[in-house]
Parts: sequence; structure tokens; C-alpha cells
Amino acid sequence: MSEKPLAPEAARDLVLAEVAPLGGEPVRLEDCLGRITAAEVRSPISIQPFDNSAMDGYALRAADTEADQPRLRLVGESRAGHPAEVTLGEGEAMWISTGAMVPEGADAVLPVEDTSEADRQVLPARAARKGENIRRAGEDVEVGQVLLGPGQQISAGEVAVLAAAGVAEVDCAERPRVAVLGSGDELIPPGEPLGRGQIHDSNTYALGALVHEAGAEPTQVAHLPDDAAATQRALTAAELHQLDHPAEVEVDAVRKPDVLIVAGGVSVGRHDHVKGALAELGVEKRFWRVAMRPGGPTWFGVLAREAGRPTLVFGLPGNPVSAMVTFHLFARPALRAMVSLDPHGTRTRAILATTYRKKPGKAHYLRCRLELTAQGWRAHLTRESQGSHVLTSMLGAGALAEIPADAEEIAAGELVEVELLR
Ligand code: AMP
Ligand code: MG
Repeated sequence: MSEKPLAPEAARDLVLAEVAPLGGEPVRLEDCLGRITAAEVRSPISIQPFDNSAMDGYALRAADTEADQPRLRLVGESRAGHPAEVTLGEGEAMWISTGAMVPEGADAVLPVEDTSEADRQVLPARAARKGENIRRAGEDVEVGQVLLGPGQQISAGEVAVLAAAGVAEVDCAERPRVAVLGSGDELIPPGEPLGRGQIHDSNTYALGALVHEAGAEPTQVAHLPDDAAATQRALTAAELHQLDHPAEVEVDAVRKPDVLIVAGGVSVGRHDHVKGALAELGVEKRFWRVAMRPGGPTWFGVLAREAGRPTLVFGLPGNPVSAMVTFHLFARPALRAMVSLDPHGTRTRAILATTYRKKPGKAHYLRCRLELTAQGWRAHLTRESQGSHVLTSMLGAGALAEIPADAEEIAAGELVEVELLR
């Protein structure tokens, strides 16, 4: 039975329609890097928490420095972490270090360079301005201020602000759990010698890396032989999430994968058993075949569950370039949407550096290196040959340039949509 291939955008919309956002979980600040906030984070304190000095110098009253040749009595010290216990009176000065609490009564800090000190007397070399060199409490952040909204990715800057606010634990979106399966009798893991007719398995490694890059968690990686019964057994185990657990682990206690990716064995060959096995397991097909190159023979379905979230199932083409391209176009948007990131947030436009010609009918996705120029991003093909068997076209690829289905030629210098890979 032949089916009309879907446009890539239509296929992606069908995927996104099945996404249920994941819940949140508390994550220790030191483990937050790269995670996505699940809720707003407000500051429990103000930053800075108290008025403090921006300089090493003397805390004083600005008015006292306006006299002719003023002399101030040195009455003590306010050190960082050791605030002065006394209030500063008229005609008095107090040694203060950067970050130390400004003593009560003082309204300015004169830097040490603008003073001299003799016999416990401070001689300002110039008049101080009121408020000078004082960092005000709450100047940066007020108590209760929203530091981060939901759906925000945590980078080093976010970690710094959260730490300063004393937030030790953040409510982050759970990381999508992804099971990756590779299919084919010909596949041998890297590190083992190849026999006749064998090739190394690159897909499970590539997809595991892509899952990581997408901020999700590869929970298991397994291999399916080209055998109907064995394929079904392995898929059953993956779906139930038993592969990495001893038999006595209660299956219900383990969170099911949110996404199952099978690469290879999905097509119409005599030894492709994946679609049949998925149907047996109750995975409902949503689409099969997309009008794109590489990546046409892509399958997508959903396993509904009585309790809990459904598992999204991607049957990607076994061809390694196709598997990676279709991951980027279909699986990654789903993984982003699950953690409330914009699924389309990885798209932009670039100038195609060389003319590209093709037959109309399918969208083409060209592996490109991006260069930032005065005119904006320029996309250069990583390899002139964009054949789907040329895996080295992925080396250094920062983007996929999209050549629309109906286009026959995009001339050098024209703008195209690109899907950023990093
Ligand atoms: P299939 O979709 O199973 O027909 O596979 C299509 C092509 O991709 C064949 O040339 C397979 O040998 C190759 N292939 C399938 N799985 C992998 C894999 N995990 N690593 C490398 N190549 C693969
Ligand atoms: Mg195969």
C-alpha cells in the first residue's frame, strides 16, 4: 500500500500535537546547568542584602568633608563579614573594606586614595558626595523579584544569580527519557572487527549523542536483530523499560520512556520488522513517509497508556545521515516542547553560499557550515556531495539548509530557512 508522503512541516505538526509537557522536579543548583526551569523563581532576599561599600576607604558623613581642611576621628572598622557595632557620629570616620556593611550614620565612602591618615585622624583630600561608593541594598534584586520565568534554560549567568539569591534547589522540567534502538544484522559495535558484509553501528551512538545535546536523557540503548520475534521481544522490553533492570525491579515503579527511537528496519524491505512489531505492541501510527531528502522513510506513532504519559515512537530511516536529519526535524522539536522550550526556536535564515539545483517534489536538507558575515549568516555545504550515504557531510555541520519542495533552484546569495544543529 503506497501512501502520499507528508510535507515536513505537516509531519512536525502531527508530532507536536502528541506532546504532553513533562512535570517538574527539584534539582540541586550544582546540577542545574543546561536544565529548563519548570516554574518561576523569585528571590527570597534582596541583592545586595545590605548597603555596602564599593571601595576600600573610609565611611563618613559627606557633610563633614565640606569644611576647610577637615579632620575626622577614626572610630573603628567595618570589614567584609564583620560589620561595625557602633553608629558613626558627626566628625567621625570608619575604615571600611569593599563589600563591608556601611555603618549606621555614614552616608558616603571616600576611597583610600583620596585620603590620608595620621594619629587616628582621617584627612579627606576632597569633599565626598552623599551616597558616593555605596551599593544600595536591593539595587540589583529586590525581595520577591522574579529572577527566572518558567521554560528558561539555565546557563552560567543564571547559576550565578540563583546562588547569589541563596536558591539551592530549582524546580526544573524533568528531562525527557529516551530509549534508542538500532536495527540490523549487519551492525557491529565500534571496537570490534568487521566480518564480511558487516558495518559499524553508528546510529545508536549518533542518536545517543543527539539526545544528550537536546538536553534529554538516553535511558537505554539496544540492538534489534532482523528477526520478527526478536524485534518484538526487544521492543517490548524497551517499552516496559526493563532492559537495564534486574527482573525483580517492579516495572510499574520505573518511569516509562517518553520517547522511543528506532533507527533502521522501518522500511519496506523483506527483513524490516519494526513497523509490524510496533503495531503488535499497540503503537498507533500517525504518519509514514515524509516528502523530504534525506529522510523520506520516516515513521511516527504513539503508544497511549492507561496511566501516565504516552510514549512517542519514532521509526527513523537506518541510513545514518537520514537518521540524524530526521531526529533534528522531528524528534528534537518534540523533546524541546516536552520541557516547554519553543520547538521552532532552532530555526533561522541564512544566505546560501552556492547555487543548488534539484527536482521539485521533495524538500532537501543540506548539511552546512555557518559563517557569520556582515550580511548575516552564510551557509556553506560541508561537502559538495550531499548523498545520504555521505556521513562525513555531518562533520562540522552547524545547520541544515532547507530547500523547499517546490523549488528547482536556489541561486547563490538567496536566503533560505535553516535548522540550527547546535
Ligand atoms: P534499513 O533502514 O534497516 O534498511 O537501513 C538502511 C541503511 O542504513 C542500510 O545501509 C543499513 O546498513 C544502514 N544502517 C542501519 N542501521 C544502522 C546503524 N545503526 N548504523 C549504521 N548504519 C546503519
Ligand atoms: Mg536494516
